[in-house]
Amino acid sequence: MRSSLGGPRVLLRRLREVMAEPVSAQARLDKIVTVIAANMVAEVCSFYVMRADNTLELFATEGLKREAVHMTTMKAGEGLVGLIAHQAEPLNVQDAQHHPAFSYRPETGEEIYQSFLGVPVLRSGNTLGVLVVQNRAHRLYTDEEVEALQTTAMVLAEIIAAGELKSLARPGTDIAFTRSLALTGQPLSDGVGLGYAVMHEPRVVISNLIADDTAKEQKRIDEAVADLRASIDQLVDRGDVLHGGEHREVLETYRMFANDPGWTRRLREAVQTGLTAEAAVERVQSDNRARMLRQTDPYLRERLHDLDELANRLLHRLLGRDMIDGRVILPDNAILIARSMGPAALLDYDRSKLRGLVLEEGGPTSHIAIVARALGIPAVGTVENITGLVEAGDAIIVDGGAAQVQVRPQSDIEDAYKEKARLRARRQEQYRSLRDVPSVTKDGVPITLNLNAGLLIDLPHIEDTGAAGIGLFRTELQFMVSTRMPNANEQIAFYRTVLDAAHKKPVTFRTLDIGGDKILPYMRTGEEENPALGWRAIRIGLDRPGLLRAQLRAMLKAAKGHDLRVMFPMVATVDEFDRAKVIVEREINHLERYGHDLPNSIKLGVMVEVPSLLFEIDEISQRADFLSVGSNDLMQFLFAADRENPMMAARFDPLSPACLRALKKIADAGTRAGIPVTLCGELGGRPIEAMTLIGLGYRSLSMSPASIGPVKAMLIELKAAGIADHIDTLLDKSNGAPSLRPHIESFAQAHGIPV
Ligand code: PEP
Ligand code: MG
Repeated sequence: MRSSLGGPRVLLRRLREVMAEPVSAQARLDKIVTVIAANMVAEVCSFYVMRADNTLELFATEGLKREAVHMTTMKAGEGLVGLIAHQAEPLNVQDAQHHPAFSYRPETGEEIYQSFLGVPVLRSGNTLGVLVVQNRAHRLYTDEEVEALQTTAMVLAEIIAAGELKSLARPGTDIAFTRSLALTGQPLSDGVGLGYAVMHEPRVVISNLIADDTAKEQKRIDEAVADLRASIDQLVDRGDVLHGGEHREVLETYRMFANDPGWTRRLREAVQTGLTAEAAVERVQSDNRARMLRQTDPYLRERLHDLDELANRLLHRLLGRDMIDGRVILPDNAILIARSMGPAALLDYDRSKLRGLVLEEGGPTSHIAIVARALGIPAVGTVENITGLVEAGDAIIVDGGAAQVQVRPQSDIEDAYKEKARLRARRQEQYRSLRDVPSVTKDGVPITLNLNAGLLIDLPHIEDTGAAGIGLFRTELQFMVSTRMPNANEQIAFYRTVLDAAHKKPVTFRTLDIGGDKILPYMRTGEEENPALGWRAIRIGLDRPGLLRAQLRAMLKAAKGHDLRVMFPMVATVDEFDRAKVIVEREINHLERYGHDLPNSIKLGVMVEVPSLLFEIDEISQRADFLSVGSNDLMQFLFAADRENPMMAARFDPLSPACLRALKKIADAGTRAGIPVTLCGELGGRPIEAMTLIGLGYRSLSMSPASIGPVKAMLIELKAAGIADHIDTLLDKSNGAPSLRPHIESFAQAHGIPV
């Protein structure tokens, strides 16, 4: 084979004509392979499609025996074609039959062909098929030919994605692109949701693959790349923390990739083969993805996201669209799919239409998980490559409790989940029937079950769960969903609404816990290497007392005629609490001086979530009116394990001796000082953990609304004295065990306690 006839651009133009012809899917494929073979002066051109059973099936051929079409199959990894699919990389060999992976298929009659060039048909990094050309003569195909075949493969990927080939699959088989997938991640928010995929950051859909004028496309890509570089330079120079929360480090990575000569060269080459500028970006990115997805190094895989993001920015530029598009309009029954998402972004969506959430990142104590739970949206995190495996509009089922995601499920699977959802609804009904049952253990110990809340949408839950009050009101959530800093009157009105909705049930407001991953878009806080350990929560409050003072004043005014309970987040030293109290006292004096009515009572508490406080627990207990354990942060800092990092999510068990002793120490200190101790981290909302906490001496827990029913169902069957003895014994004999969970579970089982 010499150089191809007319080159790739002529080929693409021919393909475009074939695509437009009103013929059957099979006839179109037959024509396509004929056109490719003729253009590339190849004796053979064959197209294999990946089936759902991970088998490649010959769908069309020019040159091999026609009888082999839909008959010849091979497993991914088997033969040269299988090898290409497996490695997702082109294979170019002069002497195919002597390649170690060669497997002979007599029905095809391919023994006479020596040279072999095959490329994967990729979409979003996933292999959908393999395209092959073969020649009799011994020869190595040129780089241009490899490139041309890859470009052609992209057209075939579009045909597959358009669903045109579904009907051609052999009866009883499915093509891989539409196959059902069962994926597992980590449980973020309980519940079962059925619906259709909506991409949080939709990939740009490219409708025009084939260029009319390559020189024009070349110019477009060059300009877009230059433009992209300039915009990134500008962002880096401004040192901005952007809307999406991008930090300097990420921008520096973008800058590095955007200036990588290899990337721009490959983009230009792809345009040279006759693609439009947009299609060239997609082509290059699909190769990148395929390569990166096979990496096991998490750092390199993370870079894949940076490259994806960069490609996406380039596409937006080419299409003249703003990156920060308006919100996607949700269909009914939407399952939101995202790589990662901040809590504020989730709150922007219309809750009434969201049926589920699936993330590539996100651990169970991340803030997005907390917000998903508060909204009652079933959610699963850490689902690998979900944004690459799902197309907008795909049917998806999310099972938050089991951490399962079903993509394009078969009808029997769908029926099973519908049944599960029905059962769950019935169980919820039973929990609701517990609403007015007193929250008292079997041996008569009252346990206060409070709600965690933060937004107006949470307020009706006080009524419908029968909670004793609000144990943690995360005031920062309201700040996070605002486009600007809420002013004094807005804050007063908001806190008053909360207190009124509680109908005299106690509400514990937590002062602003911003910083870490909770960023206010309108407040610049500067870059930090380790934001979770940085300038956040009460630290900001004490350093910039203006903000804290304004918030406290608003709370004091709003609570006129009510009891006011306020607690401070992330207190690390006794002195910090003392200083916060001084600020409160000053505000009280100020209001008194100007004749304002004050709350009926004011109680000031401390969140115990920084381990240093464990070693001053008696001193802090003497000063505080109450303690509230923030177990999410306490666990994170106790074990030095980032709560937002899914790789850490299951690594350390809160039911470990270390954690239980820490929790016991806090409960005991409260008893000694005669002040109430509650716990408001996610721990308190899980029945088995809640049972353990009762055993450790906790008499008050605060949790998301959906947890109240299951926790109450547990405790009304529990004898507090029994679990206390059991936990004491277990702690005495723990002897280095990483977790006491199995023993605690056996206790629950032996005593018939529903956990
Ligand atoms: C905690 O840390 O456990 C807590 C309740 O606060 P947040 O999750 O808002 O940090
Ligand atoms: Mg916290």
